[in-house]
Amino acid sequence: MIDLHTHSTFSDGTDTPRELINFALSAGITTLALTDHDSIAGWEEAKQSVRGNLSLVLGAEISCLTSDGISVHMLGLLFDGANAKMAQMLSETRDSRIPRIKKMIELLNNEGIDITMEDVLNVVADGATVGRPHLADALVARGFIASRNEAFDGLLNNDSKFYVSHLAPTPEVAIAQIKEAGGVSVIAHPFASFRGATLELDAFEPLVKAGLNGIEVNHRDQTETERLQLLDIAKGMSLVITGSSDYHGAGKLNSLGENSTDPRQWELLEAMADQRRVVKQ
Ligand code: AMP
Ligand code: ZN
Ligand code: FE
Ligand code: FE
Repeated sequence: MIDLHTHSTFSDGTDTPRELINFALSAGITTLALTDHDSIAGWEEAKQSVRGNLSLVLGAEISCLTSDGISVHMLGLLFDGANAKMAQMLSETRDSRIPRIKKMIELLNNEGIDITMEDVLNVVADGATVGRPHLADALVARGFIASRNEAFDGLLNNDSKFYVSHLAPTPEVAIAQIKEAGGVSVIAHPFASFRGATLELDAFEPLVKAGLNGIEVNHRDQTETERLQLLDIAKGMSLVITGSSDYHGAGKLNSLGENSTDPRQWELLEAMADQRRVVKQ
């Protein structure tokens, strides 16, 4: 069972990389990708935790913004973690997430919701990428809401008046950078329409020109219709098809392996990286 999209405490997941790998082993996962938001800080612990016959794929989920302001998540897998330009691209996004959360806090404060940056930092693990789920956790801790889910259904969703975006590369720039670092790129949940605006059909061609390798078709946030549309696009453009859980530990309902990738599709994808970088014990 191949699961190519999961999060740890180095972003907004609630399991450490070590715990994540232990849960993956007991869930029967054979190939697991660690894809924290805009960060590779969990790679080292993950590498050290690999056991048994688990194959570990190191990656990141890169937050992107199109020139039209559409939010896109790009999974970069199997790239060289020592690539300096990749590190810079990721750190610029991470840095801009701090003033972004501060702006969201200010907007919430203006409406009488009494929350501080300190409250947020209290719920962020050391070295983790700060995101809306942490702001949600802080609002839960302060008793304003009951859960992350409630936050994303209202106060903190993409269409909320409290939503603020952060700096992010365009999908084309992220794809090119992943490729330059030797890795492969898979666009994550591109038609997850209930999250907000999604890409138009004609937006895929420039991504493929930039070097896009695959599309995450099977993901819980995409309806059957959306998956079929993506399947058509993937087949028409000879892109690899993936499925994954987007597991976040206790932070979301998603369970490990709830969607998975066909081994033949993974074989194709892995062969597109500039060298073999899968980590085994
Ligand atoms: P951000 O990157 O800071 O804009 O926050 C977006 C992240 O919040 C996404 O990566 C999702 O994984 C997470 N998220 C979205 N909806 C929910 C939800 N209902 N419950 C928990 N986390 C969510
Ligand atoms: Zn997340
Ligand atoms: Fe995502
Ligand atoms: Fe994700």
